[in-house]
Amino acid sequence: MTPALAEYSDEELQTPAPKTLFGKYELGKLLGYGASAKVYHGWDAVSKQSVAIKSMNKQRIVTGGLATHVKREIAAMRRLNHPNIVRMHEVLANQKKIYFVLEFAEGGDLFSKVAKCRFSEDLSRKYFQQLISAVGYCHSRGVYHRDLKLENLLLDEKWNLKVTDFGLSAVTHRRRSPSASSDGLLHTMCGTPAYVAPEILAKKGYDGAKVDIWACGVILYVLSTGYLPFNDSNVMVMYLKICKGEIRFPKWMSSELKRFLSRLLDTNPQTRITVDEIVKDPWFRIGYSDAELCSDHFEMKDVEEGGWNGGLKSLNAFDIISYSSGYNLSGLFGGRDGAEMFLSTVAPEMIIAKVVVAAEQERLRVAKKKKGWVKVDGGHTRNFTLTLEVKRLTVDIVVVEVRWRECESEPGPEIWKCRLRPHLSGLIYRPDGPVGSD
Ligand code: ADP
Ligand code: MG
Repeated sequence: MTPALAEYSDEELQTPAPKTLFGKYELGKLLGYGASAKVYHGWDAVSKQSVAIKSMNKQRIVTGGLATHVKREIAAMRRLNHPNIVRMHEVLANQKKIYFVLEFAEGGDLFSKVAKCRFSEDLSRKYFQQLISAVGYCHSRGVYHRDLKLENLLLDEKWNLKVTDFGLSAVTHRRRSPSASSDGLLHTMCGTPAYVAPEILAKKGYDGAKVDIWACGVILYVLSTGYLPFNDSNVMVMYLKICKGEIRFPKWMSSELKRFLSRLLDTNPQTRITVDEIVKDPWFRIGYSDAELCSDHFEMKDVEEGGWNGGLKSLNAFDIISYSSGYNLSGLFGGRDGAEMFLSTVAPEMIIAKVVVAAEQERLRVAKKKKGWVKVDGGHTRNFTLTLEVKRLTVDIVVVEVRWRECESEPGPEIWKCRLRPHLSGLIYRPDGPVGSD
């Protein structure tokens, strides 16, 4: 149950983190590492608010086939806002790395707490209630964690539970998710051996909600006993024990908890207890307030899935990564009716200044201009409007978005493509190369 180290060389683990990140965050000590990332403590350079910064190597992501993993993590975390789930503040990127700026959970992870001593039944229940509150919230939004384990359960400064690491989660959409097949079941083999549900081992496809409940059962067992319910030095023997569902309960455990654990660790996913049944269970209900599961209290971030949408107000690295496929941004920059987007490495002010000069040269009117934004129209004689907006994406990349209003006599696209865009030649790019006057 130690975190996977295999992905890192000694040299990488010893490489110190840069002291500041884009001038926005100061970086502190290494908090931990998982299979895909190193996590540092950090502070907002201005407010001094503590954050956790999860750094992932882009090269590793692209060559190691982790792009899907990262995109899933972003998509899942963006949709969640719950007191027992680690918040994602922002995503930053440079040429080599992607950084997730996360809510800092200063109490560390539950794994290292339980490794020292098992929890009382009351304390185990308190954490289990918080875990179910988070899991129920996620499931009702079509997000399944699929890698629930003690290492991914963190504690905040008030010792409240925070679920993290949505790296393996599958987000289901109204449309069918890529990992779900025609039977609606998920087929990707994932998760950590000791927490894996029997139906995953049977490779028959599984329901994301059911396997999360199984993992919650393993977690509750470990919290209250200090050891795993199914364990063996030989992984195959461990799998066999999981499939048979052979659990041994210590003598001192209350019969109520034994009964409840047997419902969670039911090898048959069809009869396994559901979140709705859990919250009605007498053992679970002790000291529990229904308000904790009432997700209406938690505002949901409004995120459009599946493509660029005209209503998106701001564009950041977050959006770029979550909306693009495998870092090939061509899907995003392919253009849509009434708009075009480009990348650039020059300052936004310079792009705006160039457009203003070009518009004047072309005898067009600069109708309005403010920071990072300019509107060009045809004055009193020609009826069209073009707006150009430039936003900084990372320290070295800006995104240029051009929108136009069509008009029969002199269509916006023609004016943009033939009269203005050529003046930016060599400064703006599509992901596949520079832009000329096509
Ligand atoms: P991976 O996706 O590679 O498994 P994790 O997100 O699980 O990475 O992070 C690895 C470790 O870093 C965690 O087990 C924990 O010890 C630490 N960690 C991660 N996120 C935070 C956070 N928000 N606050 C404090 N520590 C964290
Ligand atoms: Mg992890």
